[in-house]
Amino acid sequence: MKIVTVVGARPQFIKAAAVSRAVTGAAEAGWDLEESIVHTGQHYHDNMSASFFRELGIPEPAHHLGIGGLPHGALTGRILERLEAVLVTTPPDVVLVYGDTDSTLAGALAAVKLHLPVAHVEAGLRSFNREMPEEINRVVADHVSNLLLCPTGTAVANLANEGVRTGVHLVGDVMYDVALHARTRAQGLSGIHGILDLAGRPYALVTVHRQENTDTPDRLAGILEGLRRVARRMPVVLPLHPRTRAAIVRYGWQDRLDGVRVVDPLPYLDMVALEADAAVIFTDSGGVQKEAFFYGVACVTLREETEWVETVQLGRNLLCDAAPEAMVQALHWALPLRTQAGGETGDAIISPDAGNPYGDGHAAEKIVRVLCDTHLQKATSSHATGKDDPT
Ligand code: UDP
Repeated sequence: MKIVTVVGARPQFIKAAAVSRAVTGAAEAGWDLEESIVHTGQHYHDNMSASFFRELGIPEPAHHLGIGGLPHGALTGRILERLEAVLVTTPPDVVLVYGDTDSTLAGALAAVKLHLPVAHVEAGLRSFNREMPEEINRVVADHVSNLLLCPTGTAVANLANEGVRTGVHLVGDVMYDVALHARTRAQGLSGIHGILDLAGRPYALVTVHRQENTDTPDRLAGILEGLRRVARRMPVVLPLHPRTRAAIVRYGWQDRLDGVRVVDPLPYLDMVALEADAAVIFTDSGGVQKEAFFYGVACVTLREETEWVETVQLGRNLLCDAAPEAMVQALHWALPLRTQAGGETGDAIISPDAGNPYGDGHAAEKIVRVLCDTHLQKATSSHATGKDDPT
């Protein structure tokens, strides 16, 4: 079976790492599997892209479309056009797309229009906020996908509510698979605490990049003011996303980050090392909310809603609007939780037991099994009828 994996953005590299590893493992065990990666170019800086391939051992992309730095429409359109050419030249048995970016949308559309089966990893997530570009990408990708590979029971229920019940599989969260391996590697390999002089000190780790926060001046101003106030209590480390940096420069607000330790986006293992030992994490990232949960760190989410509702239901994530005072108040909630979870040593990691909403750490292997079983069924049914199965 030939798989084409379409990725383009940082969180997709991390998710694809888990599945690529499982594909390689299955191929080495004799399964008839071959993966070819297409990198759209949506994220292109070394610290947003290549460093993840190196650290996570992701195979080199077979194709690099080099399409990045464009607004949503142009980016999606150009990826769609270039990807179609790749898929026409070497049609795979399935196209694998991840998450909710413009690369996900373009990958799913390019494949479905060529009648190629589409498998969506991280299907069924919903914020129910259609102003988020990611929400549109997810909804469309889900509705054109043949296989919907869901990380949580909530995601399965969301799809059922939209009438999507065929091809739905609850596999668990591939980011959790990666987190289980990454924590130990990060402890061994990352020197980031020493570099930032944070060893043994409580600190807050922050990421901000959602369009609703970067492109709404009031929200970004509120967040920056909140971070300045938190920085009076403890060091605040902000690996600054290129979109957020561009917005701050556009508004001329560079001085509003006084007191905050701004660094470039971090390689994955440094990020994991900082997450796992943070006293608290402030973020608007989906992946970082989950990683905070995995590593037993209280998370304050700078949004009004989240797709990862389990983290909130289990009392580990607080939705906090972009209001400075609310951010400071959130510390009173977060800091005691950190101490209960694993103390300041940050040894805690949520275990892969039956109560874990994100699975058992084997989501990627389950995905590979679903892909192979589906391919086999299709081959068997087209052999029996003498026709190609239209699914
Ligand atoms: N991440 C990273 N370096 C950073 C910031 C984030 O490696 O400087 C990782 C983080 O650990 C998580 C992923 O990037 O695994 C989250 O990606 P992002 O926040 O860009 O996207 P989202 O998850 O919101 O889709």
